[in-house]
Amino acid sequence: MSDIYSKSKRSEIMSHISGKDTKPEILVRKFLFANGLRFRKNVKNLPGKPDVVLPKYKTIIFVHGCFWHGHTCKRGILPTTNVEFWQTKIGGNIERDKRDFLDLREQGWKIILIWQCEIRNAYLRTIRLNSLLYEIVEPLSLEDNTLVAEAQYTYITTNKQNDVAKHYDKENKKDEDETE
Ligand SMILES: [Zn+2]
Repeated sequence: MSDIYSKSKRSEIMSHISGKDTKPEILVRKFLFANGLRFRKNVKNLPGKPDVVLPKYKTIIFVHGCFWHGHTCKRGILPTTNVEFWQTKIGGNIERDKRDFLDLREQGWKIILIWQCEIRNAYLRTIRLNSLLYEIVEPLSLEDNTLVAEAQYTYITTNKQNDVAKHYDKENKKDEDETE
């Protein structure tokens, strides 16, 4: 089975979701600024170097690329080549995000997570960003946020175990074929 995306589409997806000041982050920052909210960006002395920090609301916003942070959407699907490499890499990112979120929560920060796919077109963006304003000013239940993170983690871990199992089945089958 090949990657669901062509090579050029795959590299386009990856290029959109790595590095500092990627486009989705800029969109979110522009929106906040236009709505009169003041923030700091890429704050290095906080766990996870948050993309946006709103000190007044003690709120942190992460804008996560679906591929690198292992979202359970279509964009988070791993390439089917170098399976183990990607599982280790993305699995490590998910673990780190989870630790960062827990640390930040312990420090009393409210965390809002925006996935790249949630703002991928004007229609979705309008909906997501408008609800963002409420999430910033309203107290967000810490439990809700934790549950989302936990569900994400469990889903992905289970999925990856299945993938690994499938991968090994395939490898074993290959071995069998070769010995025949
Ligand atoms: Zn996504």
